[in-house]
Amino acid sequence: MPKTIKKVGVLTSGGDSPGMNAAIRSVVRTCAYHNIECIGIYRGYQGMIEGDFKEMGPRSVNNIVNKGGTILKSARSLEFKTPEGRKKAHENLVKAGIDAFVVIGGDGSFTGGLLFNSEYNFPIMGIPGTIDNDIFGTSHTLGYDTALNTVVDCIDKIRDTASSHNRLFFVEVMGRDAGHIALNAGIGAGAEEILIPEEDLGLDRLLESLQKSKASGKSSSIVVIAEGDKIGKNVFELKDYVEANLPEYDVRVSVLGHMQRGGSPSCFDRVLASRLGVRAVESLLEGKSNYMVGLQNDKVTLTPLEQAIKGKSEIDRELLRVSEIMST
Ligand code: ADP
Repeated sequence: MPKTIKKVGVLTSGGDSPGMNAAIRSVVRTCAYHNIECIGIYRGYQGMIEGDFKEMGPRSVNNIVNKGGTILKSARSLEFKTPEGRKKAHENLVKAGIDAFVVIGGDGSFTGGLLFNSEYNFPIMGIPGTIDNDIFGTSHTLGYDTALNTVVDCIDKIRDTASSHNRLFFVEVMGRDAGHIALNAGIGAGAEEILIPEEDLGLDRLLESLQKSKASGKSSSIVVIAEGDKIGKNVFELKDYVEANLPEYDVRVSVLGHMQRGGSPSCFDRVLASRLGVRAVESLLEGKSNYMVGLQNDKVTLTPLEQAIKGKSEIDRELLRVSEIMST
């Protein structure tokens, strides 16, 4: 018979993403709704090790549903990777009377949580928070939709200047291992070519495609490149290569960088965060542990954390075809 849960901890860990605050708010208010206590754990697992805790009631999360970042702060904790660090974390949780926690983060944070559970049989639930959308078991991670909107907005602006000067723009977006942002934002912003880690387009095909678009009457072009694209050249080397081979092009580079992680969350991310927070707390109250709450076919689902960590979130192949047709 699992222990009755009376006090739930919540933390944000690893890379931050828009929507984390909305998820904290949801966890806190779901606890209040069910008359159980909620404790905010600051600075991820590091704050757990240091006992950096604060009681949270429904009014302590006023006016954060619209805010980017995380009011609980996030951190990477090397100490949590050691048995001694996790022991300290456990002692602090017990001392504070915390019976379970919800961790909002990426697969690293889930790995740490799962290890902690295996050592101390401590109930945990994960909420996927990362802009990269690279987690198995959910069609959307928190922050992904907001990042897509940010990227599309930036590319729209770049297009204005590109078309005024007949320029070719290489826009680098986040995504070291996954091309979700590049592929979706690229289609949304009407990019001529999209380079992603999952596909090796090859330099020759890139040149061919650019020549084709010039011949078809396009005077300016946008190429969206994920950080981890398979060609293996960084975006500046790629610019040099294209300029050397297609001297008629004046190539400009724009690296969007960290702005993709910030900003007010989209409505989609706010609603998603609210739904996932409710399900995470209610699942703990039902005695469940070691799951990630996610969205599949627009329904909130539970995926074992182990699968969420090990599984691969595939890109949608149909989107590659759509992108090719759109660049005709
Ligand atoms: P993300 O959750 O965004 O993938 P990280 O990979 O940086 O980010 O992980 C966040 C934190 O989770 C780490 O700083 C560490 O405290 C904890 N963590 C990650 N991997 C492990 C592991 N193998 N064992 C214990 N803790 C881990």
